[in-house]
Amino acid sequence: MLSKKLQKLLNGQLNLELFSAYTYYAMSAYMDERSLDGFSHWMKLQAEEELMHAQKIYSYLSDLGAKIEFLALEKPKQDFESVLDAFETALAHEKKLATELNEISISAFEERDNTTVSFLDWFLSEQVEEVAQTTTICDKLSLVGEDGHGILLLNNELRDRKREESTAE
Ligand code: MG
Repeated sequence: MLSKKLQKLLNGQLNLELFSAYTYYAMSAYMDERSLDGFSHWMKLQAEEELMHAQKIYSYLSDLGAKIEFLALEKPKQDFESVLDAFETALAHEKKLATELNEISISAFEERDNTTVSFLDWFLSEQVEEVAQTTTICDKLSLVGEDGHGILLLNNELRDRKREESTAE
């Protein structure tokens, strides 16, 4: 049985995961407007992953008979100064998600709710990966700077990103 506090926190996280998908779709549109199909592809897959994260939380709440509450979604940022600016925004967002998830995990731990602690472990590891991947892309973009050739090379590299197997129920 989930406490009211954890229900509220997990519903908040569900909203944040959906907002993340919304954010990545907005970034994908920014890339498409510039014909950067590889970057756009990467952002779209990122959005799909966020939807899968939302689905996982939805299932967890549902399985425990908790109330699933949908909150209003904020308008995502759609204008960026550059591709690097978009990825730096994505990185800041992923770091924020990691912090939020960690806070929920601490609350679950304090409530001695080991089921929720264990449920959140997957998310915490996933965030380490998300931050690492986004940091690598930011580093490469910083390296090429304004060089169009370098941007196109990275665009082609990101076009190869494969869809991960969904583990959502
Ligand atoms: Mg996520």
